[in-house]
Amino acid sequence: MVVLTGMTVHDPMLSRRRNGFWPWFGRSANADEAPPGDDVADGSSGSGSVPLGVAPDRLIGAIGAFLAQHDLETTAYTLTVAHDCLTGECPRLMRLIEERATKGLPVTIAWLEHAAREAGHNREAERLTALMARLEDSIEEFGKTATTARSATLDYNSALSQHVDDLEQVSKAGTVITELATLARAMLDRTRSIEGELARSEKRAQTLQKNLTEARRMADHDHLTGLPNRRAFDKLLDEQYRDARAANEPLCVAFCDVDRFKLINDTHGHPAGDRVLKAVAEMLARISGDQCHVARHGGEEFAVLFRATSIGDAFERLEGAREDIANRRLVNRANDSPFGQITFSAGLAEVLSYSDKREALKAADDALLRAKAQGRNRIVRADAAGVASSQA
Ligand code: GH3
Ligand code: MG
Ligand code: MG
Repeated sequence: MVVLTGMTVHDPMLSRRRNGFWPWFGRSANADEAPPGDDVADGSSGSGSVPLGVAPDRLIGAIGAFLAQHDLETTAYTLTVAHDCLTGECPRLMRLIEERATKGLPVTIAWLEHAAREAGHNREAERLTALMARLEDSIEEFGKTATTARSATLDYNSALSQHVDDLEQVSKAGTVITELATLARAMLDRTRSIEGELARSEKRAQTLQKNLTEARRMADHDHLTGLPNRRAFDKLLDEQYRDARAANEPLCVAFCDVDRFKLINDTHGHPAGDRVLKAVAEMLARISGDQCHVARHGGEEFAVLFRATSIGDAFERLEGAREDIANRRLVNRANDSPFGQITFSAGLAEVLSYSDKREALKAADDALLRAKAQGRNRIVRADAAGVASSQA
């Protein structure tokens, strides 16, 4: 039995040690609080053991007393030794300890380790040491392996990452290519569609352009004679008037009116009258050019604009047209009946001699009236003084 009594409770060293491991063993380690009825023997021999299976608190108390008796530090090793000795697991070591204590020799850790080896108590420790060694080796190996693995993993991960990136790139590239192909296909289809639309649009645009050209031509030209109409003439007059003033060049305007045209219509019919108008326009247009513009001003009346041409030269050119027309003998193709002599009268004015265009136009018109009044088939010049000179 573990000797609990007779301990040197008054030994300051023992007291300190016991206080030191007191929390380990609880109240049962306190001999003063030992349960009643516990076997108490003379502890002078120091021998005794706690059989396995006894209450843990009694075993713990015995271990504490054992360590205190032999003045051993409380370590895992001494606790194990005390446990094995007290529980009878290592009786040989227990015997060695008792013999040493009997001799009054100290049980030190160093002697205890020697005695434990002699008693064969170190087998577990050796196994544990070996196990620990193997574990250390394993841990070291594991560490190395882990390091190698980590390094390899890093390398692998790096390579894998690169591969993944490459694969992703490939995948992406494949996807992109697929998308591009799809997009290209869609674009191609769309392009073809657009191409078709553009072709149709181009055709429509060409048609529209043609229509616009025709519309502009029709808007600016007389459909019967093909000459510029009054609208085009007015526009041309504005331009020529501005340019002539800027260039200080002469600008002349003339109004030519077919004589007694109503009679032609009345005699030969309106369609025949149209043909006469077309013929007069054609002959009058022969004097047109870069500096001479002939237009149908309305009805059987034509307007002629001479640019950079003196009024004398303009008169001569108009006179040539008048004579040419007057010398013609037109025949109605519908019935071969002669139209007789076709003549026109004209009034001519030098535009820049007047304050503005309207005054010039009025002067030309007045000159025309005078030409009519003077007998027709003649051209009358209007001068700035308002005097019109005529010539048969
Ligand atoms: P004047 O010598 O005084 O000019 O006599 P006129 O008969 O020529 O003058 P008037 O104004 O009396 O008659 C003009 C005629 O011209 C009337 C009109 O029917 C005709 N006329 C005007 N435009 C056209 C046209 O485009 N085609 C045809 N066939 N006749 C037209
Ligand atoms: Mg007339
Ligand atoms: Mg007239």
